[in-house]
Amino acid sequence: MEREVRDIIIMGTGPAGYTAAIYTGRANLKPLVIEGYQPGGQLMITTEIENFPGFPEGIRGPELMMKMREQAAKFGTEFMTGSVTEVDVSRSPFSLQLEDGRELFTHALIVATGACAKWLGIESEDRYRGKGVSACATCDGFFFRDSKVFVVGGGDTAMEEALYLTKFASHVTLVHRREEFRSSKIMSLRVKKNPKISMMLNEVVDEILGNDLHVTGIRLKNVLTGELVEHPCDGVFMAIGHAPNTSLFKGQLELDDYGYIKTKKSSTETSVPGVFACGDVQDYNYRQAVTAVGTGCMSAVDAERFLESIR
Ligand code: NDP
Repeated sequence: MEREVRDIIIMGTGPAGYTAAIYTGRANLKPLVIEGYQPGGQLMITTEIENFPGFPEGIRGPELMMKMREQAAKFGTEFMTGSVTEVDVSRSPFSLQLEDGRELFTHALIVATGACAKWLGIESEDRYRGKGVSACATCDGFFFRDSKVFVVGGGDTAMEEALYLTKFASHVTLVHRREEFRSSKIMSLRVKKNPKISMMLNEVVDEILGNDLHVTGIRLKNVLTGELVEHPCDGVFMAIGHAPNTSLFKGQLELDDYGYIKTKKSSTETSVPGVFACGDVQDYNYRQAVTAVGTGCMSAVDAERFLESIR
């Protein structure tokens, strides 16, 4: 039986993947988008997005993603649910193996697999995940009504998580390992002005404390004095950044020191012709929904030109 080779497959369903689908769909390339079991990417666990142009009142993350998906479908995008377990880009056409045994072939591949929340990597964090330790205030904040919670990190995510948690928690403590925040001024100002939030600077998490059932406290270490102090609390939210989802491409595409896919300057071309990367999986620097949309569009244009060049 002759195998079907598609023009374009898009892995990933964040703003980058859906934008690539909208553009390649409109170019009549009949893109196939592989959706994991939790489509929509990181914006699905974001509350209000205030900085996406065109929505002066703000828009909720899941709603924005639903609209992008609808728009991609309108232009003939096909969606397939499944988890890709193996990719081979060493020869053309590229092949993708799904966990249920299906194998797909494509001339061009757009990688928009995004990034995931980072964890500290201490044993107690693992032990209490789901029992008071979380990396998503939007998902779990509701469970911390009238509780004391800690948020770890000094970037915009930490600020956003801390502010969001004040809707539920009686008090939020923001813990950061240095004096200065990495976040934008407007966000840290909002946090500083919020009476329900206090800050502990120059502190790192030494241990998360708890009983058999859930978190009961946190032990912090002062990085200047080395002093260890235990603080009672009910929850700890990690907001220390993200890691790219590139394990399938190790050894196949050139990655940078942090595991992000390297793309050529002013382009989404990777080290393999015909494979393009867009969104957070290749962007350490900006990591915004808007920039993901931008590079998603670029990857579609790049892929279209590539397909023309091989015909
Ligand atoms: P960032 O990389 O910006 O910040 C991560 C923070 O966690 C830093 O303050 C870092 O400390 C700290 N950190 C990292 N590792 C550890 C560790 N092992 N122990 C203790 N602290 C640690 O990631 P974010 O997720 O906050 O933001 C990513 C991007 O998304 C940014 O561009 C941001 O602007 C954007 N964003 C925008 C939002 C908005 O506009 N509403 C909301 C959320 C994110 P240090 O500073 O010392 O390195």
